[in-house]
Amino acid sequence: MTNQASQATEASQPTKATTPPLWLLAELTYQCPLHCPYCSNPVNMEETFNELSTSQWKKVFREAREMGAVQLGFSGGEPLLRKDLEELVAYARELGFYTNLITSGIGMTEKRIAKLKDAGLDHIQLSFQSANADVNDLIGNKRHSFKQKLNIAKLVKAYNYPMVLNFCITAQNIREIEEVMTLSTELKADFVELATVQYYGWAYENREHLLPTQSQLVEAEQAINRYRDQQSGGPKFMFVTPDYYENRPKACMNGWGTTFLTVTPDGSALPCHSAKILPLTFPNVKDSSVQNIWEHDFSFNHFRGDDWMPSPCKTCDEKDKDFGGCRCQAFLLTGDMHKTDPVCDKSPDHHLMKTITDKAGQQASSTLKFRTVKNNIPVKMIQDLTV
Ligand code: SF4
Ligand code: SF4
Repeated sequence: MTNQASQATEASQPTKATTPPLWLLAELTYQCPLHCPYCSNPVNMEETFNELSTSQWKKVFREAREMGAVQLGFSGGEPLLRKDLEELVAYARELGFYTNLITSGIGMTEKRIAKLKDAGLDHIQLSFQSANADVNDLIGNKRHSFKQKLNIAKLVKAYNYPMVLNFCITAQNIREIEEVMTLSTELKADFVELATVQYYGWAYENREHLLPTQSQLVEAEQAINRYRDQQSGGPKFMFVTPDYYENRPKACMNGWGTTFLTVTPDGSALPCHSAKILPLTFPNVKDSSVQNIWEHDFSFNHFRGDDWMPSPCKTCDEKDKDFGGCRCQAFLLTGDMHKTDPVCDKSPDHHLMKTITDKAGQQASSTLKFRTVKNNIPVKMIQDLTV
């Protein structure tokens, strides 16, 4: 890597004003029964192992809560694979966290959902790969997973949880947006995220297949607006588009090290769940307290504030809105994590976006690379199911 930041080996004094981490994302495990080709987990699956113990997680929760964290997301991989999930939820509730389970639903049973209710779990976010059973099972690479998800959605409602459904929108399923909305209404979802995939992790590997074209996005938005116009009650739909087609980047993580803290299965502490790809050395909660990491670690201070910003961000009157965009995106697209996010049309690298979006829908190779699965499947199989 050419842009390795010089590292402070020892914890240093705080150099930037810090606000507490309000959101803690606990990635309990990278193991998952599904194999989505857009998974945001690291492509390097060696990090799947060496998970924190129950008591180590409890220490993280306690320390984050003491700093003022209020929201705790249990995520993965598939967090249901952790047998101590109920114990961790109960502990987090005892500390006063609002708790959210982010799950594929695979592995959930009525017994478990009841136990999680007893533990005080507040909220469940259930992901679907598609509104079409065959496409869903193919994208997740697991037979009968759609049927299981339908059952779990019904249980989530039966146990009175607020339910968020999450549909990852890709070029493979964007044409079925109306079916997605109809299914969500039938399942009595409270909120539905129609979230176009963000290109990190496995999604970055498969971007040429997953990225919808601009006209597909426009059509999807029109379909969503038509559906909303006819709605009386029912779910609230949120459509999240990829910023690849925008002229300004997203305000990634609300600013580096201001609000969000992710802890990975092995205990790495990150300012965002993708940050491990950056040429920075990140601290581990096994070696240091959350407070020390958050306030003093070089990696957390490195992109705080605007001292690090290059031109044109440095003197830009919009720098308080988007903080120069996403560091991971800048790194993935330019090879330099310090550069202005190329999504911004003031960036000297903005031309890269057109090069990428021009290829949307062209599909240079014929297979999707599935997370951890050696036998990648032909894109044509999905196309045949969606036409
Ligand atoms: S995106 Fe798919 S493979 Fe990745 S954690 Fe979620 S369900 Fe598992
Ligand atoms: S130049 Fe930087 S700060 Fe200004 S709008 Fe673009 S990304 Fe944001």
